[in-house]
Amino acid sequence: MRYAIVADIHANLDAFTAVLEDIERRGGADEVWCLGDIVGYGPDPHQCIELLCRCNHVCVAGNHDLAATGKLDLGNFNPDAAAACRWTMKRLSAEDVRYLDSLPQSIEKDDFTLVHGSPREPIWEYLFSVSSASENFACFRSKFCLVGHTHQPITFRQNDDGSTSFSPFSPDIGLALGKNRLIINPGSVGQPRDGDPRASYAIYDSEAKSVRIHRISYDIEVTQNRMVELGLPMRLVTRLGHGV
Ligand code: ZN
Repeated sequence: MRYAIVADIHANLDAFTAVLEDIERRGGADEVWCLGDIVGYGPDPHQCIELLCRCNHVCVAGNHDLAATGKLDLGNFNPDAAAACRWTMKRLSAEDVRYLDSLPQSIEKDDFTLVHGSPREPIWEYLFSVSSASENFACFRSKFCLVGHTHQPITFRQNDDGSTSFSPFSPDIGLALGKNRLIINPGSVGQPRDGDPRASYAIYDSEAKSVRIHRISYDIEVTQNRMVELGLPMRLVTRLGHGV
């Protein structure tokens, strides 16, 4: 079976469409696993939910998804994120809100646990450091865990001696799934923050036992121009071009 892993789409329809086209070009996927933050920041929240729902998929809730349903206090968001969230709320249909509201915080599939932030704090914790990743290995039962939220492709490995190490997750090089437990972040589809503005996603091949990420170009300027027209915060517009 082949699974496409997408995270942090953030209402970026052009990036998401380019990723789905790339998946098809590579032979398709049996299921899409979405790690949350479908909406927030970008110009097409309704269309991204609609497109995801057309795929055979599972999805966990991200902080932006919950905020868009009114479940989270916007006091936890920076001013640009809060402004984009208020903008997003006006553009969702009742059905969109029901869908976002229905998303679980954690899903177990195959050998993987899927969460948005971390297994310990699925909505809010950012897994940037070896020390926080190390503590989080105790917080899920499956062998592997998939996370999003930081928008940076990275893998954390639990070594034989119990220590934890990390490595950036480079595109097009397969990550072999062996005996060591891993926490894997496939990067962000709609707002990458690792200095590479191309959309990021991963494919898990359960027979080959490997996960591979791919970086996909799309017309960023078109998305940026729409965001300007729609009055979204300028900082959110410019960061798309730099991938930060
Ligand atoms: Zn996000």
